[in-house]
Amino acid sequence: MANFSDLLLDVCRVRRDFPILDREVHGKPLVYLDNAATSQTPRQVIEVFDDYYGRYNANIHRGLHTLADEATAAFEGTRETVRAFLNAAETREIVFTRGTTEAINLVVNAWGRANLGPGDEVLVSRLEHHSNIVPWQLLARELGFTIKVIPVDERGVLDQAAYRDLFTERTRLVAVNHVSNAFGTRNPVAEMARVAHEHGARILVDGAQAAPHQTLDVRAIDADFYTFSGHKAYGPTGAGVLYGKAELLEAMPPWQGGGEMIKTVSFEAPTTFADIPHKFEAGTPAIAEVIALGRALEWVSEIGLELIGAWEGRLLEHATEGVQRIEGLRILGTAPDKVGVLSFVVDGAHAQDIGLLIDQLGVAIRTGHHCAQPLLSSFGVDATCRASFAAYNTPEEVDVFVDGLERVVAMLR
Ligand code: PMP
Repeated sequence: MANFSDLLLDVCRVRRDFPILDREVHGKPLVYLDNAATSQTPRQVIEVFDDYYGRYNANIHRGLHTLADEATAAFEGTRETVRAFLNAAETREIVFTRGTTEAINLVVNAWGRANLGPGDEVLVSRLEHHSNIVPWQLLARELGFTIKVIPVDERGVLDQAAYRDLFTERTRLVAVNHVSNAFGTRNPVAEMARVAHEHGARILVDGAQAAPHQTLDVRAIDADFYTFSGHKAYGPTGAGVLYGKAELLEAMPPWQGGGEMIKTVSFEAPTTFADIPHKFEAGTPAIAEVIALGRALEWVSEIGLELIGAWEGRLLEHATEGVQRIEGLRILGTAPDKVGVLSFVVDGAHAQDIGLLIDQLGVAIRTGHHCAQPLLSSFGVDATCRASFAAYNTPEEVDVFVDGLERVVAMLR
């Protein structure tokens, strides 16, 4: 069994922050292993909503009254929290979005429309979530550029030699995730950024699965764009982040038009736009959600990302070891560098049936294509079961999951 004793994570204390972990499902204690889809929320984050709506709910930026000032200060304070979390150079490089999907769509539509045309090439990895594939495909259909796919090997590792060979003088951008949601592979994004820049291309790194699991440094990666979602990082749904290098954001046209993103609006003269990041934040944002996201990132930093990553790594090791005793179980995604994601199929037992039956035992895992159909189809499957770990999971919960899986598989065969 993996050794946990040298890690200074007080998991009992961590769990006390999460009211939801006390609930039962089908009369059994909840074992929540669907963290790659959405992580649970600590009470410190939940309390932000009570505080905001109970004390200082007001629209931001425009007001001159006390409540508007307080809301603006809390909202803009989160921009600094996110800047520090990503180690970005400046707060104006942080754009708030609804999540990763919206952040990628922003880059595709604002940067893509200004920089891509017929004959240009965008490299997209086979490990991508649909949200880093489909927006590029939609724009490619319209503008006539080509999408080339960075292949994966049988472990779910991106083929770096093939990646380097894909570049031509028409390559404009690389779209790759920092960590794969389907397999847990951690990609060498700093090295991939170096290669992209050597060829004069930009790189967008989708950090949705990296954000809550490891220390991030967009400058060390040298990412041109970096995205993540609050709800996978102990925060709420509805708030996410686009980081972009200032000179790129400045050169990009706006994406959505509306209030807040303008300097002056006129029918007689050209409308002028606000400075970054506000140029990309049209309309009233998700104010409470953004403030709560800031609190979530503070919570993560209080525990320590290094420690969280190490803890989840041990849980993965323990689970990987445990499921080996199930005959006919095949793990998909065996990269040497993985985060706490365990994706698998079992001979004679469909993923969907496993998911439904193990839920009866109180264990929540995800089953399906994980919005990564091109990846799964290249491994000859249309669905896997996926258990994914967070800071509040315990080795005992992994045991409940593995024992439950063994029982469920026996029932299905
Ligand atoms: N990219 C990756 C790697 C993801 O795991 C997800 C969510 N499963 C997304 C993008 C999309 O994130 P959201 O739904 O929060 O926009």
